[in-house]
Amino acid sequence: MNEPNIASCSPDSEGYYGRFGGAYIPEMLFPNVEELRTRYVEILEDESFRRDYELLLHDYVGRPTPLYFATRLSRRYGTRIYLKREDLCHTGAHKINNTVGQILLAQRLGKKRIIAETGAGQHGVATATVCALMGLECIVYMGEKDIARQAPNVARMRMLGATVVPATSGSKTLKDATNEAIRDWINHPSDTHYIIGSVVGPHPYPDLVARFQSVISAEMRKQLKEKEGTELPTHVLACVGGGSNAAGAFYHFIGEPAVQLVAVEAAGHGVESGRSAATTQLGTMGILHGSRSIVMQTADGQVVEPHSISAGLDYPGIGPLHACLFESGRARFLSATDDEALDAAFEVARLEGIIPALETGHAFAALPRLGLTESDRVIVCLSGRGDKDLATYMQRMSDV
Ligand SMILES: *Cc1c(COP(=O)(O)O)cnc(C)c1O
Repeated sequence: MNEPNIASCSPDSEGYYGRFGGAYIPEMLFPNVEELRTRYVEILEDESFRRDYELLLHDYVGRPTPLYFATRLSRRYGTRIYLKREDLCHTGAHKINNTVGQILLAQRLGKKRIIAETGAGQHGVATATVCALMGLECIVYMGEKDIARQAPNVARMRMLGATVVPATSGSKTLKDATNEAIRDWINHPSDTHYIIGSVVGPHPYPDLVARFQSVISAEMRKQLKEKEGTELPTHVLACVGGGSNAAGAFYHFIGEPAVQLVAVEAAGHGVESGRSAATTQLGTMGILHGSRSIVMQTADGQVVEPHSISAGLDYPGIGPLHACLFESGRARFLSATDDEALDAAFEVARLEGIIPALETGHAFAALPRLGLTESDRVIVCLSGRGDKDLATYMQRMSDV
């Protein structure tokens, strides 16, 4: 087994971050994954690829996103808090940083057809968007139950020209959609690229997606230098579902021991309630979606159905990078309950005039637990905007 770099948590050539990662895939998928594995670094480092990617990030996504000093929130917690405004990205969250990169990669690989799976529909919308941009066919697999629950995102994908295919097996949710997408990929090995939406899946996806999202921390360093005269915050906070916004926010700080990395998972009704998605607290080593990581599972290896009020965090695993950051102690993992995340989202709305995504509410909920002082410089990755969560927020207002 490979054990290098556990402290820095950078992947080796087989995609292992310490004990975690790798590619555990059915043999029939091997050619597809192997093509990606052997070509992604060379393509991403190519000068013309970089130019095309940076131009789209600038003109289409709207980067760089601001690093905003949150005056009233800072006063509330007696420290200096900056918000990295991924909510201002086109389509309303960080996910587009990855889909723009992957669509350019798919073009370089000569692919004509794009598939994706989606739970709440956020990644599906970000994928349908870049397929429309490039004129590529787009098929999004989505659990039948999720299609019923997430009608506005289904409508967005269809308006953008994507075909939304219901997954009707099992629990009719995300994991069934993932199975359908993998089946499709096996049946279309030469013309199809599968766009995975977080730092999960078989190698090279966790590294590929982390590289595309790393623009977040690259910008943070530059912007903090302009504002504070130093590139290094004392703390970086991000919520973790699969872990892509956190991976992007942490990426260029992992090798800086002075920077505390704080990942916040969804505790749902409470870590011990049986209705939670706090993977590092409840999980054990296992294989999920093609890589070895920490997984919420029963003693005999059945994946446990997770729960979070926020669809983007409702996932029973975390990417292998985060498993390594957790196990090595490089990042601190906390969790916030549904109620704590809701309260934090309302607090940010009322102190800053910014309605965050419910996912990001979890990151904000950790602020009071960090013992922050006046001399700290904290960056919260504001992963997305809250428009999609309005129904949940309305429910909250009628409850209290
Ligand atoms: C999807 C999503 C997340 C969770 O996904 P990660 O891969 O963990 O970043 C967090 N915030 C928002 C706004 C999302 O849409």
